[in-house]
Amino acid sequence: MVKRFAVTSLVVLLSGSSLSAQTIYPIDRAEILAGAQFDFKVEFPDRVDPAKLKVTVNGADYAAAFGRAATFIDREDGKDQSALVLRDVALAKPGSVAVEVSDGTRNGSVAWTVYETGPRKARNVILFIGDGMSPAHRVAARILSKGISEGKSLGKLAIDDMPHMALVATAGSDSIITDSANSASAYATGHKSAVNAMGVYADRTASPLDDPKVETITSLAKRRHGMAIGIVTNTEIEDATPAAMVAHTRRRAAYDEIVEQFFAAKPDVLMGGGSANFLPSAAAGKRRDDVDYVAKFRDAGYQVAKTAGELNAVAAKSDTRQLLGLFAAGNLDGALDRKFLKGGGVKKFPEQPDLTEQVQAALNVLSRNEAGFFMMVESGMIDKYAHLLDMERAVYDTIMLDNAVRLTRDWARARGDDTLILVLADHNHPNSLVGTVNDDMSTTPNVALRERVGVYEKAGFPNYPAPDAEGYPSRVDVSRRLAIFSASLPDHYETFRPKLDNPNEPTVKGEEAGTFKANDKYKDVPGAVLRPGNLPAMMGASVHSGEDVILTAMGPGSERVHGSMDNTEVFRVIADALGLAAGQ
Ligand SMILES: [Zn+2]
Repeated sequence: MVKRFAVTSLVVLLSGSSLSAQTIYPIDRAEILAGAQFDFKVEFPDRVDPAKLKVTVNGADYAAAFGRAATFIDREDGKDQSALVLRDVALAKPGSVAVEVSDGTRNGSVAWTVYETGPRKARNVILFIGDGMSPAHRVAARILSKGISEGKSLGKLAIDDMPHMALVATAGSDSIITDSANSASAYATGHKSAVNAMGVYADRTASPLDDPKVETITSLAKRRHGMAIGIVTNTEIEDATPAAMVAHTRRRAAYDEIVEQFFAAKPDVLMGGGSANFLPSAAAGKRRDDVDYVAKFRDAGYQVAKTAGELNAVAAKSDTRQLLGLFAAGNLDGALDRKFLKGGGVKKFPEQPDLTEQVQAALNVLSRNEAGFFMMVESGMIDKYAHLLDMERAVYDTIMLDNAVRLTRDWARARGDDTLILVLADHNHPNSLVGTVNDDMSTTPNVALRERVGVYEKAGFPNYPAPDAEGYPSRVDVSRRLAIFSASLPDHYETFRPKLDNPNEPTVKGEEAGTFKANDKYKDVPGAVLRPGNLPAMMGASVHSGEDVILTAMGPGSERVHGSMDNTEVFRVIADALGLAAGQ
C-alpha cells in the first residue's frame, strides 16, 4: 500500500491536479490504430452527479467525437463509485487525442496517439511465439540441432537466420513482469494490459467479462480484409497465448467462456489440446454447462480432427476451409516425450501431431482463402517445461519451433515471399547456459555431481549424438550435457540429470495451504542435492523474468523490426504490413 501511495503522489506532483483522479481507459499514452474498436470507460473514485460531468475529446464533447453518449453507472458493483462506459467506439482520424474528464471537483486526463498505416504489403502474416523462450533455449537448440566445432556453429537456426531483429520489452500495465495473457494481448491488440488479462484493460469490477475491450488483430484482419484466421498451439487451445488472439477477459482461467468466444469468432483453423473444455461432463469433458462445442463447430461446417492421421486427412481434402483440431484433453506432449521418451501423456494420446504437421495442415487450409490469412503458431510447452526446471524438454520444443519456422519459410519462398513471418517469445524465463555437466561416472565415480558442473574451459563441448533429420539428438542422458540453470527457484532437489520417465515435478503441496515444498521423489537420486529456493513458498515452480525478448522477422513489412521495441509495437508492425488503417 505504501508503494501505491508513493506512485499516486508522483502522478499528482507531475500533473498538478488535486485528489486522486479518475481512471480512464484506454490508459494514458495508449496508441490506437485508426478505425480499431475499443471500449471507453471512466471510473470515478466515488459517486458523482451526472449533471456535473464534463468529458471532452480534443476540447469537444466526447459524445460528438465518439458518435454517441456513454452509459452512466451511478453505483458500479453496488458501491459508492460511478462510471461511464461506452462500448465499441473507434477514432478514424490519426493524430494526438487529449481526453479530459471533470466531475465538478476532480479532473483527470489521458493523451492517446491514433495512428494510420501505409498500404497493405503482405498477403499473409504468420506470428510464431515460443512461449517463455529465452536466449539460453535458442543457443542450446542451436548446439543440439546444428552442432558446433572449435567454437563455430555448424549451422544457423531458421528462427535466428532472418534479416531483421529487435529486442522487445515485455512489461505490462500493472507490473514489470508479464504473464502469457497480457504479453500475447500486447501483440494481438497493441495495448498494454495486466497479468491474467487479454483483449481488455483490467478494470475494478468483479466480473472478469465486462472489462473495457480493445480489438484484436484477428477481428481486424477479418473485418477489414475478409482474411482467414488460424490459431495453432501445442498447449490447451484455451491457454493464454492462443486465447489472446481472440478473447476478451481479465481472467485467463475462464476456459469455458474462452471456448464460447472462440465459437463466436470462428477462426478458420483452431488447433491444439484442451478438448476437455469443449465437452460437457456427459461426454468426458469438464465444461460446467451441457454444451458440446465440438458438435457445435462441426454443425457450423468445421472438419474435426482428433489425431495426427485425421488431421493430415482432412487438411488434404481440397474443400476443407475450416478446421478444428483437438488432440488431447489438456496440453499436448513435447517433442522429447512424443519422439523419444514416451513419457507425459503420450501413452494416453499416442497419435498427437508434431507442431510441424499442425503448421503444414494449417497452411494448406488457410491458403485456400483468396484474401490471405493471419496465423499465430505457438510452441507453448517451452514455457511449461521451463517452469518445471525441465531444460531438455524446453530445448527440444525450441528445436520443434525452429522446424515449424523452416517449413513455413520454405512454403513462403515457393509463393514468392508474400508473407510476413515474425518469430519471438512472449516473455523471458531466467534460464542461463552456464556450462556442461560432466557425468562420466566410469572415470570419476566418487565425485559429487555438483562438482561435475564444468564451467569456463572445463565446460568444453557436449557429446550428444549427431541430430536426426529433424535436428533432434536421439539421447539426452549423455555423459557431457548442457548445464542450463534457472535463476528463480522454489525449494527442490537438483539432480543434475535429465528426467527420462516424465517431465520434472520439482515441488509438491506444502504443509501450509497455498505453499509448496521440494518433491521427495528425487531425494534419493544419486548425487541429488536439496536446493533451497529464492522464491516465496507460494511458488511451486520457476517464474517468468522481465528481460527483453528477441524478435526476428522476414518478408514484406519486416523492415520495421529493428533496435529496441515495445511489445505493443509488434501489433503495429502487423497492422502496417496488412494496411489495416491505410488512408483513414
Ligand atoms: Zn509461463
